[in-house]
Formats: sequence, structure tokens, C-alpha cells
Amino acid sequence: MTNILLVDDRPENLLALEAILEPLEQKLLYAHSGEEALRQLLQHDVAVILLDVQMPVLDGFETATLIKQRERTKHIPIIFVTAISKDEEHVFRGYSAGAVDYVFKPFSPTVLRSKVAVFIELYEKTEQLRQQAEQLKEQELEELRRESEERYRFLAEAQPDQIWTAMPNGELDYVNQRVLDYFDSSFSERVAAGWTDVTHPDDLRRTLQLWQQALDTGTPYDNELRLRRAADDSYRWHLTRAVPMRNRRGEIVKWFGSNTDIDDRNSAEEAQRFLVEAGATLGSSLDYRTTLAALAKMAVPRIADWARVDIVEDGKLRTLAVEHVDERKVELALELSRRYPEDPDAAQGPPLVLRTGESELIAEISEERLSELAVDDLHLGLVRELGFQSYMGVPLVVRGRRSGVISFVAAESGRRYGAADLALAEELARRASTAIENAQLYREAEERAQAARVLETVADGVFLVDVEGIVRLWNRAAEAITKLARDDVVGRRAGDVLPAWDDLAERVPIAGAPGPATATTFPLELDGEERWLSISGVGFDEGTVYAFRDLTEERALEQIRQDLVSTVSHELRTPLAAIYGSALTLAREDLELEEAMHRKLLEVIVEESTRLADIINDLLLASQLDAGRLEVHVEPCDAVALAASVLDAARTHLPAGTRVSLDSGQEDVPRVAADEGQLRQVMANLLDNAVKYSPAGGDVHVRLEAAGEYVRFSVADEGLGIPVAEQSRIFEKFYRLDPDMTGGIGGTGLGLYISRELVRRVHGRIWVEPNGRQGSVFQVEIPAASEPEAGQNRRKKARASV
Ligand code: ADP
Repeated sequence: MTNILLVDDRPENLLALEAILEPLEQKLLYAHSGEEALRQLLQHDVAVILLDVQMPVLDGFETATLIKQRERTKHIPIIFVTAISKDEEHVFRGYSAGAVDYVFKPFSPTVLRSKVAVFIELYEKTEQLRQQAEQLKEQELEELRRESEERYRFLAEAQPDQIWTAMPNGELDYVNQRVLDYFDSSFSERVAAGWTDVTHPDDLRRTLQLWQQALDTGTPYDNELRLRRAADDSYRWHLTRAVPMRNRRGEIVKWFGSNTDIDDRNSAEEAQRFLVEAGATLGSSLDYRTTLAALAKMAVPRIADWARVDIVEDGKLRTLAVEHVDERKVELALELSRRYPEDPDAAQGPPLVLRTGESELIAEISEERLSELAVDDLHLGLVRELGFQSYMGVPLVVRGRRSGVISFVAAESGRRYGAADLALAEELARRASTAIENAQLYREAEERAQAARVLETVADGVFLVDVEGIVRLWNRAAEAITKLARDDVVGRRAGDVLPAWDDLAERVPIAGAPGPATATTFPLELDGEERWLSISGVGFDEGTVYAFRDLTEERALEQIRQDLVSTVSHELRTPLAAIYGSALTLAREDLELEEAMHRKLLEVIVEESTRLADIINDLLLASQLDAGRLEVHVEPCDAVALAASVLDAARTHLPAGTRVSLDSGQEDVPRVAADEGQLRQVMANLLDNAVKYSPAGGDVHVRLEAAGEYVRFSVADEGLGIPVAEQSRIFEKFYRLDPDMTGGIGGTGLGLYISRELVRRVHGRIWVEPNGRQGSVFQVEIPAASEPEAGQNRRKKARASV
């Protein structure tokens, strides 16, 4: 039904219109004023308006103008109905106000009815057209929607990522082909199953929680999880994202999601991080075993579920370290390598890697393969228990030698090794090798440095001559002995820097290997001096190491010893001959000896026996001193009395022309702290020498005086004297100024040595000085005996000044 609006201020007119239009069977709306008409139009769609011209307030024209001004009503046909305003002007106004007709009363009901009917029909036609147009638009929109959906799907299919959509409740309703390929399932299967069956069990809980949270709050979903790729049954890291799409009312109508496989990217980043950390760990130890064990530890679980390091020892592979994700399985893995040692000829695994020096990658260890490889049922059981899935082995090459194999195995993680993993493992092995090499080099350098330090401190001269004959090493002792500085020798030919080296080198015995080498001794003219060197060499690949020592001093001593033998034997023979001669003479029966001669011979025997005994005593005493076995009893003694008694004894056999005198000074000479018997021997030695080495006779002056905390005892003679250069040497054992006794004065060279040692033992000192122009003065200082209360102090001081 269509609405017809009748507007008239007079109800009777409205009634009349109603009667006329009733037969049209349309809905009639009434308005008694312009305002009411406008109101009605707000509420209803109207096909045609019959409008009275004369009305109070708003007349028909004004009402029509207002209707025409409104967008929604401007096309409604208006028919003016009037009884009064029939003049042209009014008609014109009516048309210009938008009227489609102007009907004067009285009018023919039929005409009016048919006019209205025309407009009704027009309205209905228009309405029909509008509806058709709307329908068409709707259809087009639908078509568009379908197209855009298709376009979207098309886009989704073209994506390299897995694309999916889900309903507001979270159920999948679309996945792209990539999803189907990745998980090897049909569209309906995948949409029905969702992601649960392909998500890593360890990630499932978190994933479900996050997804539910997104659904509940309508916020974007973002997650990293492992999804199982059908191609190799491996779990790979994915980044999953979904955003909700909302309608105009803000309700979520769909979730658009994608899964991106970030495993390679993750692995690359992880590998980089891992290598950096590995570098730090590998560099932290100098022991290769520690290094490799650390490496195995590091690899688990980051790149393997278990890792094993085998190294070559005695030509065989031995397991050095095993690490397993599951600590309980370490024992199992060890058990495996113990029970089933690698067959060196095996066609796979560590032995193969070692033989070829090439890495091995077994991406997928199938059940059949396992059964094939297993030695027996127990073996198969152990291997199954360990859950081998994927394997890679890389060689460990240290300084160009294949030194071991590092094995990585993927088991419970579901990981499958690929080329990128192998590259990482190889890089790791390379870094481990470098670390081991560095540690070895460092150790060698350390050892070398240590050897060099040792060489610097040894007393023997050591030098190295390379195969070219160039000196490569010259230690400090070599410098000291030869007086040749290292800088002048090293880098030069041995023959150019060491006089007559080329001749000598041939005579030096060279041992082939380290060990005792026999040495040879020969003189070498160095720095204008003849030095006796004992030298030996050891040859090795890079040249020869020579060690030498300066035997010049020892040779001199050896010479002295030889001299001693002749001296001492002469010294012993002389008195022995005298005793023997005297005794023989006394024993002769054919000779009548005079009383005086008889006594003289007996005296000779007594004197010479005493001399013999003295010599033997000196030899014994010297050896006791050398061995440190001489006992010393220090006590206060009266040095003056002692000197007097020594002089008295000497006077009994003074040679003619020699005089001895004692001067004990004006003041009191303090007592000395010494062993009385030993002090007497020192005094007697010095006095004997003074007399003995004054063959032309002269005065021997003995003097005693206090000298600070010491008592000085000096013996001055006018005899042979001692050259300044020999003043200290005469105190050495067996040292004599005239060893060959060309001057005819005998002796053992022990007296002064014994004297010095005895004086030292009571913390005194002894030296010699020239006696003016002729002869020598021997000086001895012995600590004065301490007073009981101040004793300690004084002794300490005396000792400190020795
Ligand atoms: P010996 O007298 O038995 O040879 P000594 O040890 O007593 O041994 O003396 C060592 C050397 O010192 C003597 O051989 C001698 O050459 C020299 N000598 C010692 N005392 C004197 C001295 N008073 N005058 C000159 N030379 C001396």
C-alpha cells in the first residue's frame, strides 16, 4: 500500500477527498495544517500530496516550498487543490512552488482520482525500480566480496609462509597450500586438527595458553614454537602471528594468522652466539683434555643431545668425553663405547671420519640402518635406548695431524642435522684444533723459555751451532768463560768467532742423542790467555749443542797436587834418609863411635822423627779441616805467655845468625778467646817460616799488642819476602812460592793454610804485609776474651768483622 497525504485545514474538505480517493485502495494520511503535513512526511514515505492552498499560518505554497527544500521529500509530486485562488498568478505560484498540478474546485472526482492514480502508479514503478537497483547493487557487492576473498586467498597461496584464518572461537577455517605441504595433510584434516598434533610437546601448553589469551582479549597473538615438519619429521622453530579482523560494530569476525619457519635464522644466530662463547671456553685451558671435555659440555644441549669426543692415542681412537642431555644416559653412552669399541675399519662413524679426514653427516638414522649397524641385540638395545636420530662427525686436525673425532647426535630433541649444522660443527672442531694448537705452542714456548732461563743459570757454557755452522745460542756462562759477548757471537759463523774452532770442532765428541757425552779437554787461546776447556756436544736435527766448562783453575790445582806429591814425598824422604843413615851408623859393629858422635846420631834420629811426625800431623790436620771434623775449644788464654813459650822452643834450634825477640808492649795485653793448642800451632808456624825463609839470618821480631777488640800478634822477618801478587795465594792449600825447591827450602805448603783455617775458626784474621824493604810481616788478630757480663756482645761484633 502506498501513502497519499491529504492536507486541508477544513475537515469537511478532507472528508470529501477521502470519499473521492477511497476507491484507489491506498492508505490515506491526513494533515490539518502545513506543519502537520511536514510532520507526517517525516514519518512516512508518501507517493503523492494533495495540498490545500489557503491555510492559516503556513499556506499551501509555503508548505510546498518547505517540502521541496528537503532532500527526502523534494521529489514527491504535489497537487494543489483550491476553490479560491484560481487566478493565473496563483496558479503560477503553485507551479513554481513545485506543484505538478493545480486543481480548481469544483473538480471532477474521477479526474482527480485518475490524476492521483497516475502518480501512485509512477511512485510504485519508481519504487520497484529502486528496489531492483538495490538488489543489483547487493548482488554486485556480493560478487565483489567474493572476488576480494578470492584475491585474498590467492595472495595467501602465493605467500612463502604458512597462512591461515580462524573463526572468532579460534577454530581453523582456512590454511594455505604451504601449510598442507609442510605438514603433509589434506585441507580438511588440517583444518579439523588445528596445530596441536604438530606442536612440540614442550611448547604445547604455552602455545594453547597464549592463543586462548588472544581470543579472550582480542589482542594480536604472537608466539615462538616448534612445529614438526613432515618432510624429515623434525621440529623446527616457527614464529606465529595472528591479528583479529573486526566488523563495523567492532566484533571480531576472523583471525588472520601466519607461521614463519625461523629455524634457519634461529640456528644461524644461535650458531654465531655459540661460536663466540665456545671461543672463550676453548681458550681458557692449556690442557687439551680439558678443552675437549669443555667443548662436549658446551655442545649439549645447544647443538646436540649428546656429544662425544674421541682422540687418537697409541694409534687408536679412545673416548675422552661424553656428554648427554640426560645425565643418566651418560653412563649408558660410556657403556656403549666400552663394550663396543669402534672398529677402525667401520664404514661409518668416527673411524670413517678419522680415516678419511672428512666430516660425515647422517641426517636421518632409520630403524633399518640401526639394525644393520648393531653388532648384536644388546648393542641394538643400547643404541635404541639412546634414541639416535641424526648424526654428524667432524675430524679434529691438530697441526696437520688427524687427532680425533667429535661426534654430535640428535636424539630426544627431534632435531635433524643439515648442512648448516655440519658447517657449525666443522667450525667448532676447527676452533678446538686451533685452541689445542695454541696451547701446545704456548707450552712449547714456555718450555723453551724455561730451558733458556735454565741455560742462563747453568755454570757451564752452552752454545748451539746450526747445520750451517752459525751460532744460534750463546749463554751467559759462555760469555763469562770466553769473555765473548752474545751479540758478537750469535748469528755468526762459529769458526769466525772462536779461534781455531774449525779444527777443534772435529775433535769434539758428539753424542747422537741426549745423554751423557764424553768430553774432551784442550787449550783454547782466548783473549790472549790460554784457557783449558772441557767440551762435549750433542747433535740433533737442527744442529749441535755444545757444553763446555773452564778447567783452567782445576788444571792448575791438578798441577799443584802433582807438585805436592813430589814435594811431600821429598819432604818425607829427607828425614827418613837421615834417620835411616843415623840408625845404620849406630848399628854398625865395626865402628867405634865416639861418645859425642853417638849422641849426635841419636839427636838426628829424634829431630828427624819429630819432623816426620810434624809433616804427618799437618797432613792429618789439613784433611780434618777440609772435612770440618776439627774440634775447637775456645777459652780465655794468655797470648803473651803462649808466645814466650813458642819463642823459647824455637830458640833451642835457631840457625846461626838468626835472632828472635818478643815485644809484648807497654800496656797489659788482654787474654784472647781461642783454642790454646791451636793458637800455639799458628804462632809456631809463623815463627818457623820466619826463620826458615830467612836463609841469610837476621832479626825475627815477634810482637803482641791490644788492637781494639782484638789482640794482634805479628811476626816480622828480614828474609826472602813475598811478592804482592802472591800475598793471598800463599794461604791456599799446598801453595808454595818455590814448589821445585830451587832455593833448597823444603815444605809442604800446608802451614799457612792450616794457620788461616784455625784463625778463622775463632773468628780472627790473618794476613801478610811487606816488612819495609826486606822480609815480611805476618799479622794475626784474635778476639780478646770477653768479660763475663759483656761477653755476648763482643763476640758478636768480632764475628761480624771477619
Ligand atoms: P811451607 O813453608 O811448608 O812451604 P807454608 O804454608 O807455611 O808452607 O808456606 C807457604 C809458602 O809461603 C812457602 O812455601 C813460602 O814460599 C811462603 N812463605 C811462608 N812464610 C814465608 C816468609 N816468612 N817469608 C817468605 N816466604 C814465606
